[in-house]
This record gives sequence, C-alpha cells and structure tokens, in this order.
Amino acid sequence: ISPFASVELAPRDPILGLTEQYNADTRPGKVNLGVGVYYDDEGRIPLLQSVRRAEQARLEAAAARGYLPIDGIANYNQGAQKLLLGEGSPLVAEGRVLTVQTLGGTGALKVGADFLRAFLPDAKVAISDPSWENHRALFERAGFDVVTYAYYDAATRGLNFAGMTDSLRALPEGSIVVLHACCHNPTGVDPTAEQWAEILEIVKARKLVPFMDIAYQGFGDGLEQDAQVVRRFADAGLTMLISSSFSKSFSLYGERVGALTVVAGNKEETGRVLSQVKRTIRTNYSNPPTHGASVVAAVLNSPELFKLWDEELAGMRDRIRLMRQELVNKVKAHGATQDLSFVVKQRGMFSYSGLSAAQVETLREESGIYALSTGRICVAALNSRNIDVVAAAIAKALK
Ligand code: PLP
Repeated sequence: ISPFASVELAPRDPILGLTEQYNADTRPGKVNLGVGVYYDDEGRIPLLQSVRRAEQARLEAAAARGYLPIDGIANYNQGAQKLLLGEGSPLVAEGRVLTVQTLGGTGALKVGADFLRAFLPDAKVAISDPSWENHRALFERAGFDVVTYAYYDAATRGLNFAGMTDSLRALPEGSIVVLHACCHNPTGVDPTAEQWAEILEIVKARKLVPFMDIAYQGFGDGLEQDAQVVRRFADAGLTMLISSSFSKSFSLYGERVGALTVVAGNKEETGRVLSQVKRTIRTNYSNPPTHGASVVAAVLNSPELFKLWDEELAGMRDRIRLMRQELVNKVKAHGATQDLSFVVKQRGMFSYSGLSAAQVETLREESGIYALSTGRICVAALNSRNIDVVAAAIAKALK
C-alpha cells in the first residue's frame, strides 16, 4: 500500500479553475474577466518597451548565470526600496531598512510569514474581509491563526470604515495586520488619506505589526502617490513588513519578481533580522533567479528606462480608468438604472461589481462572460472590442 494512500484531493484553485473552464469554452465571443492580469486593448499581455530594452541590453552583455546571493541582486533591492520609501529616505540612511529579492509578491509574503512565525509564533494574523484569496491560506500554512477584519460594505459598495476600525481595535496587542497599501484586491476599494491616518493611530495604539502588501503600485494614482501609505506608516516610526510585487507593474508575471522589505527598530536589529530572513530563504529555495530581477533593476536604475516605464505604467492605468468609465456609460446605455458610479471610484485592476453569484452564472451560461462568483471582475481585461458585449450582458443581468 502506498504511503500516500490517504492523501486527499486538495480543493481546486477557484481562479485557475475558472480559467480552465474558460479555455474549454468553444464560443467565439467568450470573455474572461476572472483573471488577475492586465491585458492591452488588443487583449494581449503587454511586453513593455522598457522591459524589452533592458532585456536586449542584457542579452548583448551575455552575462554568465552564477548563483545570486541569498538576498538577491543588490541594486534591485535598493531600487525596490526607493520605490517604496522614496529617494533619500531617512530610515534607509539610518540603516533601519532591509530588502530582499523574492519570488514575486507571493514569495515576499511567504518569506515574511515564515520569519514572523519563527519570532512571533503566538501572534494572530488579521486579513481584510474579503482579501486576496491566497492571504489566508498562505499565513495558515505558515502556522498562524488567521482572523479577518471588517472591510467591504456591500450596501454602499464602499469601505465599512467603522467596522474596520472596530475590528482593528479589538485585535489582541501585537497582532499582525495585513493591509493592502493601494488598489485593494478584490474590491478596488481603498481607505481615504484621512481614514489611513486613523488606521495608523490604531495600529500604533494596539501595537499591531503591519504587513503591507503592495502588488499594484502605479495602478492607482501613480508610483509616488501609491506609496504614500507605506511611507506614512514607515515615517511614523513603526516596525513593519512590506511585500512588493512587480508582476503587474512590469507585466513580468512569469518571471517572479518581488521583494520583501522590513523596517526594523534600529540598525543593529536590522542586521539580525536580515540574517534570519536570509536563513528563511536559504532553507526554502537557497537563492532567487537572475533574469527578471536583472531586467527590473536595469529599468529602476536607468533614468531613461525608468521614465519610459513610468509612462507605460501610466498608459496601463489610464486605459483601466477609461474602461471603468466606458463600462458604466455603456451599461447605462443598455438600460440599466442602478447607480454604478462606484465602479469609477474603485482603484486598480479590479471591481467588486455588485453582481450576485447567480448573475455571474447567468453571464457565463448565456454570454460566455466569466467572472468570479463574488462578483469581482478584472477591469483590465476589458477592451474596445469586448466592452459592448460585456456591458450589454451585465445590463441584462441587472434587470
Ligand atoms: N498580493 C496581492 C494583493 C495580489 O493581488 C497578488 C497577485 O495577484 C499578489 C500579492 C501576488 O503577486 P505575485 O504574482 O507577484 O506573486
């Protein structure tokens, strides 16, 4: 008898499962809004010019592929740090910040979670309700007890701020709180600057440990603007963790480019934390891969390529905004009477559309339009060719 005889089948990943279903659909007009990927107006995952140029230079340089250090490429880590904390951050000057290259944002969360579990084993981890579907599983796998804090208000299609602050205040002191720094996934609903100020006060008062997840920097209002929350928390003197992902902002999903940044209490502590973070990496996958991070480092460290990237990112951001506005206009034009202005207010790639699970099912069955059963749609998968069909189908489903 096999030692694996009692292994149970794991549940299917809901998003990847939906994509399998979509791929098997033979209808020509099908649209997949269930993904978490930016597509251009032609419906393709873009290869950014800034990336292409950095890759060409890398190819020409024909560099050997030795092992990277455990913490990755130094000027990649510095570049990622600068994007988060800004040029000339006093925290960096004080030696209170460490950044390590990770396998995407997920890798940063996992390395951070494993580190935290080793040193704060009894802390609870609080995630938003709802949150990115991997947050709970990832922190539970690391051994934590995961709870939720109130976040989304289905009635207003906005933030349940009173609920959020109540639940944060009720957390045991020293709990770890996972916060989406901008462009909340899956709702698209972010706190305002004033609300963040209040959240910061609660985090301080309750001695919570913020773990900021920033996977969409540049998709809200811009690279600098989207980092404001991270900077405010760091400037307030908090010790915190930050997971960054460049999957979306560089359109480099498969290269697994991310970073874990830790703001520690002082310089000496930073050294000790870094040594333990590196140990976590060493015992997991030893050291990270070269290509994606070399390309990102080249863009981040070249003023010319950086400018090009920033413009390309603005192009993606503007296209998503346009699709939000057009969706609202067209759904209305198709006769829907509901107030859909929240779709335009939401930020980032996603919209909690307010569609019910039954309406989502109708969209799929009748029109070949795929969305998550929660009603989350990826606005970045809309384009000038599919938006009419989608708008008409949504208007019909809303009737
Ligand atoms: N965190 C959030 C909120 C995300 O939405 C995602 C990706 O969808 C990630 C982290 C993970 O990013 P990556 O693909 O770089 O691992």
